[in-house]
Formats: sequence, C-alpha cells, structure tokens
Amino acid sequence: MNYHNITKDDMLNGDGLRVVLWVAGCNHHCQGCQNPITWDVGGGLLFDDAAEEELFTELAKPHIAGITFSGGDPLHPFNRSEVFRLIKKCRELYPNKTIWLYTGFNWEDVQDCEELKDVDVIAEGRFVEALLDNNIHWVGSSNQRVIDVKKTFESGKIALHNT
Ligand code: SF4
Repeated sequence: MNYHNITKDDMLNGDGLRVVLWVAGCNHHCQGCQNPITWDVGGGLLFDDAAEEELFTELAKPHIAGITFSGGDPLHPFNRSEVFRLIKKCRELYPNKTIWLYTGFNWEDVQDCEELKDVDVIAEGRFVEALLDNNIHWVGSSNQRVIDVKKTFESGKIALHNT
C-alpha cells in the first residue's frame, strides 16, 4: 500500500485531535474531488515500517483521541488488507482511542466487512458537487453520511454519529 501523508494534531477529520493516514488509491473519481492526486494506487510513498512506526508513535500520545484513515480510499480493493491489519492493531493497542474511516463507498457496499466492526465512525459516500454543503460536519456533500458503526451493527439499521 502507498500513502501520501501522515498528519498530526488534525482537527478536521474526526472528533478531537487525531493522527490521519492519507492512503493512495481511489476509483470513485468524484467530480470536484479535492485530492485527485491521491487517485493513483501507485502514487505517493510506500507505507513501510518507518511510516507505520511514525503513525503509531503519534497515536500513542495521550492527547491524541484516535486515528482516521482517509485518502484516496482506504477501502480501495488494493488497500483493504493492509488497512484492516492496521485497524486491528490500533484496536488491540489502544482500545480506548477512536478509529474513523473515510470511504467513497456507500455503507451498504461495505457493511459485510467484519473488519469494520473495530471502526467507530465511517464517513461514507462519493462526493457529489451538486450537493455541496459547507454546513455539514465532517463531510462535503449532503448525500454523504457519518455513521456510528457500533450502533449500526447493534441495531441493524443505520445510526448516524452525533456531531
Ligand atoms: S471518494 Fe474521496 S478521494 Fe475518492 S474521488 Fe471521491 S472525493 Fe476524491
């Protein structure tokens, strides 16, 4: 898997101060995407041991509320196994920190992924320029949903994250 950046003390991609991993690769190609440079799975840098250490060193800091996987699309087929491995590791090492994940897939397309049960919040759906709404928290267009994953799995119906 390749990645473009690891941002620290990030306040724009989930609750609290977070570390964000921006992976490479997205097949959704939404018109108006702010990060088209991330579409190519071969772009950016190899997510190697040094990058993983950087990520987890940041996540370990007491003031960091959790990790957010973004991109690109962490659920691009090419990225899934590596992202799922990282999610599992985050959950095992830091059970009290939150895990957020941004994806261009709709919830209905990915809800069968058992690995997502360790994620707290999924911000989902393609960005639709005609539905741009700057007043929605955490996402850019009104078709996108910010889903509380645990409540959704428990209740069997989509539960939105309280923003
Ligand atoms: S899903 Fe996100 S990264 Fe992918 S094209 Fe759409 S807006 Fe860009």
